[in-house]
Amino acid sequence: MIDTLKKTIAELHGDMVAWRRHLHRHPELSFQEQNTAAYVIELLKAEGIEVRGDVGKLTRDSQGTGAIPLVKGAKAPSFACFALRADLDALPITEVGKEGYCSMNPGVMHACGHDAHTSMVLGAGIALHRLREHWSGTVMLVFQPGEEKEPGGASLLIKEGVFRDPSPSGILGQHVTPELPTGKLGFRSGAFMAAADELYITVKGRGGHAGSPHLLVDPVVITAQLITAFQQVTSRRNKPGQPMVLSFGKVIANGATNIIPDEVRIEGTLRTFDEPWRAELHRMLPEMAQGLCRSMGGDAEFTIVKGSPAVVCDPELTARMRAVAVEFVGEKNVVDMDLRMGAEDFAYYTLVMPGSFFRLGTGNAAKPGTTSGLHRAEFDIDEDALAIGATMMAAGALAELGNGGR
Ligand SMILES: [Zn+2]
Ligand SMILES: [Zn+2]
Repeated sequence: MIDTLKKTIAELHGDMVAWRRHLHRHPELSFQEQNTAAYVIELLKAEGIEVRGDVGKLTRDSQGTGAIPLVKGAKAPSFACFALRADLDALPITEVGKEGYCSMNPGVMHACGHDAHTSMVLGAGIALHRLREHWSGTVMLVFQPGEEKEPGGASLLIKEGVFRDPSPSGILGQHVTPELPTGKLGFRSGAFMAAADELYITVKGRGGHAGSPHLLVDPVVITAQLITAFQQVTSRRNKPGQPMVLSFGKVIANGATNIIPDEVRIEGTLRTFDEPWRAELHRMLPEMAQGLCRSMGGDAEFTIVKGSPAVVCDPELTARMRAVAVEFVGEKNVVDMDLRMGAEDFAYYTLVMPGSFFRLGTGNAAKPGTTSGLHRAEFDIDEDALAIGATMMAAGALAELGNGGR
């Protein structure tokens, strides 16, 4: 079956490149993916695939921009169901380069490869539909909106109940990566990507003439102390060997050379893996900030916006997916990945069903942009990898359904 599948997907390679380039030219921001979803739905309906659209509503008034097509095997009756996930949204970045398929939507760009993810799940779904006489069960294609936003599309789809009927036994997701060359697939069992929370702090003091600091409460000096104190949480309070990041990328003290401001605003991110430790930090960090600021005559307002939890890949499902990858690309092309401090909305699926997430190598030093980091204006992918990602997705689904959808 793997050879037939490889051949069918190889025949679709030109189409996948065309779909990806169409999506790349017409990127849409999170929860605004109307045209992207319509494009996906139209392609699948033309193949005769049943599609549930209008899913992933952010609020009751907004139109859902997700789509849940169901591809059904015709070999024998089966209730087994397995899900394959793609994300539809682009980022607010102005693109550079890409002759012939540069973004036509100014200031918006597919800089995270979601155009490729969508094209590959389309390819996998269409190939499986064309080969439906050879397999049984249902493959649910999950085209989710808003991966880059919080709350993301994944949690919304779960809340909307799209996984209730049919109910998949597991879900497979992928992400392109410039860190692996084309041809390689990266897996990790257990914790893979971090939980990410946003931190917003206002350090309050009393501003005035910078020449008279003794009459003021300088929030800039307090902020400097606070940021340093927070780094000691990572080095002294966190259990050694347990990955954690606490970074502040925005510090605004809107004074001047001779003006001390009334307050300083700081924004940062907290990345963790362990849920009890994450909860403890949510209690400890505001307490520390208030304690330290008050001890220096100021005060702190602390807001935590809770983001997605850690991506935890189900060990058994991941072992089976890794075995499928070995069969298809060979042991030497299957890489065991390190933990990553980046976050992924896919994490929410892993809370409600066994999930596995792999990285698809799309780096090729001979092709410009493909070794650039994600979320950068010059980012591109090696399109030769599209057939590999699509085959892995389709073969992974067939392996699970062949096992009765464990
Ligand atoms: Zn991204
Ligand atoms: Zn992404």
